[in-house]
Amino acid sequence: MSATDTSRPVNKAKIVILGAGPAGMSAALYAARAELQPIVLTGSQYGGQAALTHTIENYPGFPEGVGGMQISELFQKQAERFGARFEFDTAEAVDLSQRPFKISTYSQDYLADALIITTGASPNLLNVPGEKALTGKGVSYCATCDGWFFKGKKVVVVGGGDSALEEAIFLTRYASEVTVIHRRDALRAGVILQKRAREANVQFVFDTVVTEIVGVQAVTAVKLRHVKTEETSELATDGVFIFIGHTPNTQLFKGQLELDGKGYIVSDIQMRTSVPGVFAAGEVCDPNYRQVVTSAGMGAAAAIQATRFLEEH
Ligand code: NAP
Repeated sequence: MSATDTSRPVNKAKIVILGAGPAGMSAALYAARAELQPIVLTGSQYGGQAALTHTIENYPGFPEGVGGMQISELFQKQAERFGARFEFDTAEAVDLSQRPFKISTYSQDYLADALIITTGASPNLLNVPGEKALTGKGVSYCATCDGWFFKGKKVVVVGGGDSALEEAIFLTRYASEVTVIHRRDALRAGVILQKRAREANVQFVFDTVVTEIVGVQAVTAVKLRHVKTEETSELATDGVFIFIGHTPNTQLFKGQLELDGKGYIVSDIQMRTSVPGVFAAGEVCDPNYRQVVTSAGMGAAAAIQATRFLEEH
């Protein structure tokens, strides 16, 4: 692809939204209702991490909870009703050096007067031997997606935060034994989840790290090291679910937008980034709240600000 390549289709839009999680979907709804006919490039993870969640119990308006995929589809339908266009396409490069901003996918280019980035975050890897080779063969980063495969089996969950405990509790639906392995002696997760995990008979191994995931065709065990005694051991297991935080999906924007030390897009309360006309919302700029409702709120704010920006420019 080059600047002189005229064979690629070019799509012009007032607003392009990158990502279709709760932030992107809400931004699409608000931009569509402002009659800006936004184009949403969904990326490869339609619905974002919310779509991988079995039941969302804390999104207002759903007293009985709502499925993660179900709410994603409702978000999309609502935005489309007002004129948002969803493209199941992934941005591979962006040029934010001048307006209109240029977004390139594998086969097409998009030119946008304003851009809203809601590309979210991806789960961190443990980076231990066996992890990559056994991903999909017992190593997983999504209990909702893979829990069913562990009916009546033993699984371990790595991490001590809210995600680890929430997913561990979910896994007790299927697995015969769920053991959380945490590197410290105190959990980071909130007390309510800790209580629910204990009630669900989740087991805990503290002060311990996983040093290797063992298996050939499938996971058979994890190798462990106690961080205080340095004692090593092996624990037989059929599955390893890893929930040790996230890394924002900002690779595309390095060198073009200001990022913080952990790679999150730096944005202000009006969702403005370091480039006028480029806004960010959701987990790509928020390491703190990471809730469907907060991401949706940020997406709405970003679209309102983008609308104002377009009115002024
Ligand atoms: P997190 O709070 O950052 O927790 C990550 C956990 O992984 C920590 O316990 C950390 O240990 C451990 N960890 C990190 N790197 C590790 C490594 N290399 N090896 C072993 N363990 C490692 O991430 P999270 O649980 O995904 O939650 C992120 C945010 O989302 C939080 O603000 C959380 O409250 C929120 N959240 C909320 C809900 C809910 O409200 N239901 C659900 C999910 C997430 P240390 O504790 O030692 O640092």
